[in-house]
Amino acid sequence: MDRREALGHMLAGLSVAAALKPHPLEAQTTRAAGRVETVRGPIDLARLGFTLSHEHVAASSAGIWQAWPEFFGGRAQFVKVAVDQLKQAKDEGVDTIVDVTTIDLGRDIRLLEEISRKSGMQIVAATGHWIDPSRSMQARTAEELADFFVREIQRGIEGTDIKAGIIKVGTGNMVDAFGEKALRAAARASKATGVPITTHSPGLDRIGLKHAELFESEGLTPAKACIGHTDNSPADYQLALVKRGYYLGMDNVPRGGPPAGTPQSTALTWDQRYMQIKALVDAGFADRMMIGNDHSIGMSLQPTANEKGRLAQNPDGMLFVTRKTLPALKAIGIPDQAIRTMMVDVPRRFFA
Ligand SMILES: [Zn+2]
Repeated sequence: MDRREALGHMLAGLSVAAALKPHPLEAQTTRAAGRVETVRGPIDLARLGFTLSHEHVAASSAGIWQAWPEFFGGRAQFVKVAVDQLKQAKDEGVDTIVDVTTIDLGRDIRLLEEISRKSGMQIVAATGHWIDPSRSMQARTAEELADFFVREIQRGIEGTDIKAGIIKVGTGNMVDAFGEKALRAAARASKATGVPITTHSPGLDRIGLKHAELFESEGLTPAKACIGHTDNSPADYQLALVKRGYYLGMDNVPRGGPPAGTPQSTALTWDQRYMQIKALVDAGFADRMMIGNDHSIGMSLQPTANEKGRLAQNPDGMLFVTRKTLPALKAIGIPDQAIRTMMVDVPRRFFA
């Protein structure tokens, strides 16, 4: 039995133990096995298909979208641009996007539903919390935050009956007091509902290992969490997380750059990211990775210099992975089957 098998057996043992000793909230679980919630209702996992693991239709800050749609070019214009881009993505083979926009990133669930309906793109919406807490949220305990996350998973989001299919949490390059509460709350809500977690974890600061410690101190099974933005991080950090049982979110790929990229940037280049993904595939870990753009269509319409720069770097937007990353991965020798594993099989298993 090699180390991976041993780990698998250990994890299987843990989940048996967890099944024997139910969490007090578990009795409330309404989530049907074999299905995942989208903004247009639950679907069978088999219908998830080719999935981009970390995207944002419209990310900003809490309340801005609703109060100031002109900032995004106006609601009608924004819907048109977003629907066009998602239709294009669908034409190029994308079946589902996981939209990890939380309350503090200005999530608008009715907007997501409208754009999903008009584009035909399946969208999984998120509960959880990113790194921009209001004073009201900052004052909450981990238990209160867990209650809020469970509410959005079991009852619905923003006055609708649209339910969250994933829990998104994270921190900046250190774990502050609020980040710790949010991470603990995510672990508790995941244990109570079975819904998986994805994180915002600046990998160059190796912060995913801190997130892992917090999750495990709450008794979370590592396979219930995907440590995000791990494409921009050192190879030994990636290996440490994957061997510990976590999924790796290679979900920030457009933010790399060509070898002669911005001199001040410490980010890994595209080529470095792709070679590290190949090394992980070669080591047998294709079945632990998911790929995404972390693209925000909303941000790309904001008339600020920063966003213009981002758009100049990635004119393909949410199509970067399908147009640039996957051909590049094939060109360095990653087989089609491994790509299918990362884009289709892993998301299905992650949400199961
Ligand atoms: Zn993101």
